Amino acid sequence: MDNLSKINNGFYRSKLMELEEVRAKTKRIPVADNREEDYSEEFIQKRIQFILDETGAEITHIPQLSFKPRKMIGNIENVIGCAQIPIGIVGPLKVNGEQANGEFFVPIATTEGALLTGLQNGVKLLTLAGGVNTKVLRDVMHVSPIFFIYGLKEATAFINWLEKNINVLKLEVKKVTRYGELLSIEPKITGEGVITTMFFSTGDASGMNMTSLATFTICKYIDEVWKIGFYIRSNFSSEKKQSEFNFFSGYGKEVFAEATLPKELLELKNLRVTWEQISKYCAISYHSSFRAGMHGTNCHVGNIIAGIFAATGQDLAHITHSNTALTYYRLQDNGDLYVSVYIPNLVIGTVGGGTGLPTQRECLEIMGCKGNGKALKLAEIIAAASLAAEMSILIGLTNFSHVQVHEKLGRNKPEE
Ligand code: NAP
Repeated sequence: MDNLSKINNGFYRSKLMELEEVRAKTKRIPVADNREEDYSEEFIQKRIQFILDETGAEITHIPQLSFKPRKMIGNIENVIGCAQIPIGIVGPLKVNGEQANGEFFVPIATTEGALLTGLQNGVKLLTLAGGVNTKVLRDVMHVSPIFFIYGLKEATAFINWLEKNINVLKLEVKKVTRYGELLSIEPKITGEGVITTMFFSTGDASGMNMTSLATFTICKYIDEVWKIGFYIRSNFSSEKKQSEFNFFSGYGKEVFAEATLPKELLELKNLRVTWEQISKYCAISYHSSFRAGMHGTNCHVGNIIAGIFAATGQDLAHITHSNTALTYYRLQDNGDLYVSVYIPNLVIGTVGGGTGLPTQRECLEIMGCKGNGKALKLAEIIAAASLAAEMSILIGLTNFSHVQVHEKLGRNKPEE
């Protein structure tokens, strides 16, 4: 060993010892070696005690569960309990969908007072109007790996190879998932590589894990042949972010909901508003939305997406793109009001993820959306409820009842 190596060796050894000392002193959250044990009530209590000792916080509600903590295996690590979000219910909401047909009660988990009262008004109105027509227009999920390839000529050869071998790659996917299916690969030459957006159908699962595994399997197969190197996610698929690409190419369920509110409804219900007044408000508020550069012009679809996501065990971070929505209104020549909402990137599932957890499962059951064959139905119910929410807030903002209702039902002033 030369002198420099000796110095380096000594330097790194002492650095390593320093780090070991720091590690020994660092307080570590207790985690059991064995997964089953880690989710046992005794071990969870140990973790809670650690937090009590460290923070002095009062922890009495978080550990109270109505089910065995082992049910949470696969959904969380370092578990200490559950967040209890209030769940309310609205309905019946009439939906005339391709998959959701009938009257539904919709559970919403939220801490926003006044939300459900407003929503219930919208639900009543749309149901009286004959219900909401719904349809899932597209259902895809994609992951976009990037392969390193230099030069147009090579990139073109790579793309040609992908096209020729698509059926082989589809078969590779079949080896790792029963429900996931590779539909197509859309290549994009970029910088020093090719982004290969892989489109999948994912059955009734939202499909994040399923498509991750399938994509990795495909990438390994491709790289065995090409030996060029890849990253499984280039970030082009904008997972848990909003993007123009996903808006146009799809990411999750693309859903549409519409209803026509007859002018007679105005006499039947004392709404303290006319369809003309609503249309006037819509026109100016949409103009303001464009001025703001809003991505997806709607009033508060996010409230419904978040409320149903939290209630039914969807991945909450998927609210980021799922709440992109375009709401449309037009006063018709005969005095009726046509309303619709378009939700292009709704990422949901009725199996997998958090959908099997006890309260989440019960909420899905309330809507008849638990398990196999129910994901499109859930998407249509969410779109219909979103339209009801849009109606209710538009009425509230036009006739000024919005502020009063929140003052009456939604204030939580801390005691002084
Ligand atoms: P999952 O719970 O990981 O898997 C769903 C399982 O359900 C699969 O094993 C699938 O079988 C099975 N299945 C049974 N019946 C099905 C049906 N009718 N349709 C579809 N699948 C059916 O769920 P996932 O949707 O793939 O992943 C969602 C989870 O991924 C969420 O918890 C989310 O938070 C998390 N996530 C992961 C990533 C990531 O990068 N990996 C990123 C974001 C979020 P087969 O496997 O045989 O098809």
